[in-house]
Amino acid sequence: MPRIFAHLLSLLGASLATPWLAWQERKLLHEGSPLQKDLLTWAAKQGIQNPEKIRTLQTHPLPLPAPMFLRRWLDSRRLPCLHLAGLSIRHGIYLAPDLSDEEAIIQHELIHTRQYQEAGSLFSFLRRYLYQCLTEGYHHCQMEREARGEH
Ligand SMILES: [Zn+2]
Repeated sequence: MPRIFAHLLSLLGASLATPWLAWQERKLLHEGSPLQKDLLTWAAKQGIQNPEKIRTLQTHPLPLPAPMFLRRWLDSRRLPCLHLAGLSIRHGIYLAPDLSDEEAIIQHELIHTRQYQEAGSLFSFLRRYLYQCLTEGYHHCQMEREARGEH
């Protein structure tokens, strides 16, 4: 995709989705549970600020700010939008129920939490994330590689 289109689409997508992210983060902070002690320690070691603020909440299906037809289309374009195990919305993390590798999923999402903190705002994170997905692909982009512990 030409970079100018990726810039415009990520700007548009982040503008449209930021109010939704803010609303979902508030809901997660209100309804979620704090991290277990070992994950709090792990998060602090990763340089995540205020890990005691973070809340996780199990839900099914994981919400996204897009109608199902768009989620299916994005999923078919290799941006996972259907069978998500986790979703970080800065200090709130959605988790699918009954995960066999829940701790590893939370650790992955916590690295996205750190990326939100580094980006400085929900909007800046999402614009950067969408731009990388559009130009490098979801799987290969730097922010996903970092979350998987690859450098
Ligand atoms: Zn990820």
